[in-house]
Amino acid sequence: METRSGRSAVVVGGGIAGLATGLALRRAGWDVRVRERTADGAAAGAGLVLWPNAVHCLQVLGVAGAVRERASVLHRSTLRRPSGRLLSSVDARELARRCGQPLLGIARADLGEVLTRALGRDALHLGCEVTDPAGEEADLVVGADGISSLVRRSLWPDGPRPDHRGYTAWRALVPGADLLRGTGAAEGAGETWGRGERFGVVPVGAAGTYVYATADAPRGARAGDELGELRERFGRWHAPVPALLAAIEPGTVLRHDVHDLPVGATALQRGRTALVGDAAHALEPNLGQGACLALEDAVVLAHALDAEGSVPSALLRYERERLPRVTALARRSRHLGHLAQSAHPLLVLARDAAVSATPARLGLRAAGRVAGWRPPTSPPTSPPARTPQEPR
Ligand SMILES: Cc1cc2nc3c(=O)[nH]c(=O)nc-3n(C[C@H](O)[C@H](O)[C@H](O)COP(=O)(O)OP(=O)(O)OC[C@H]3O[C@@H](n4cnc5c(N)ncnc54)[C@H](O)[C@@H]3O)c2cc1C
Repeated sequence: METRSGRSAVVVGGGIAGLATGLALRRAGWDVRVRERTADGAAAGAGLVLWPNAVHCLQVLGVAGAVRERASVLHRSTLRRPSGRLLSSVDARELARRCGQPLLGIARADLGEVLTRALGRDALHLGCEVTDPAGEEADLVVGADGISSLVRRSLWPDGPRPDHRGYTAWRALVPGADLLRGTGAAEGAGETWGRGERFGVVPVGAAGTYVYATADAPRGARAGDELGELRERFGRWHAPVPALLAAIEPGTVLRHDVHDLPVGATALQRGRTALVGDAAHALEPNLGQGACLALEDAVVLAHALDAEGSVPSALLRYERERLPRVTALARRSRHLGHLAQSAHPLLVLARDAAVSATPARLGLRAAGRVAGWRPPTSPPTSPPARTPQEPR
């Protein structure tokens, strides 16, 4: 068996998947270079919900404590009508008890900063675009370069392309926690479903409140004034939506059309190259699991490399372990997207009636099936060569 010491990896992309994979490999003794094409490397996208499966991975990566310090612990996940009428509520404390970790809301920049500090700035090469992944000199190349992955296209030039899902998403951070005080929204993650439109509210620690919205829209449609568009669409929805919209700073709203990769059409490895995160399996955002799966990829990949004798056999093992889960969640997220983005009034009536008739325990069980995943736990075959300390 080859020894691991002295083995080198290039990770293409410094988003959540790339930073987490770089950290996982570095903790296992690999010499890691994470190449990120942007100059600041800031994880774009306002905020995130981290489910217990992700928090378990952060624990393995040695950063769960630092992440929790910056995050909000979410006690509830609710679904409402635009009038404010409650359709369903999942007790996130009970979910945390069953899954062994809490549900967290965090600003992406905070998560990115914690992962970067733990990885070590020396391993992160900013402003460094990879144009020829095959030319990288390393024992292992990891494609963590997002949904339009160059690494994926270079391995499979005729492979799957991102699929536009017929709707668009806006995201923003509202600084300060005051706007949620006294409303049920302070307790946890809340989503509201209208007709072909959704609005979500998530407290994200000292960074404030993460809000997101979706609406059916053709690819590429833009409003010009995206904040004005949000206020026009959602300004009459239940509290605290209007107050949050009023508090968003102009020019800070992000808008992206929603795409995914065709379900089941993708492989995760070839030779010495592995794909992680959205490069491997971008899903619609309806389960709030894309970044969580990226964290899972990172720990499973590092574990497989630790357990197997060669890079190609480890990557085969990684693919075998990951494909069933990511395929199932991608399908589920598409299904949920159809339901959540329903626009026909009769379908919406039937949907809302079905959701409110579903017993809370079934909602909890469904959430547990997704968030109850645990990282592989078998011990490493030899001690890691270098273990960066968890930042304080
Ligand atoms: C509206 C919305 C809400 C979401 N909410 C959640 C949520 O609550 N919870 C959750 O878990 N997930 C959520 N997701 C999904 C999550 O955002 C993604 O799954 C996750 O960010 C993917 O991370 P990544 O690192 O794989 O890709 P990316 O974030 O796309 O990072 C890829 C990085 O690679 C870099 N790069 C690309 N090409 C190159 C190159 N050639 N050379 C060097 N660098 C390169 C890019 O600059 C980028 O920094 C949401 C998604 C959306 C759209």
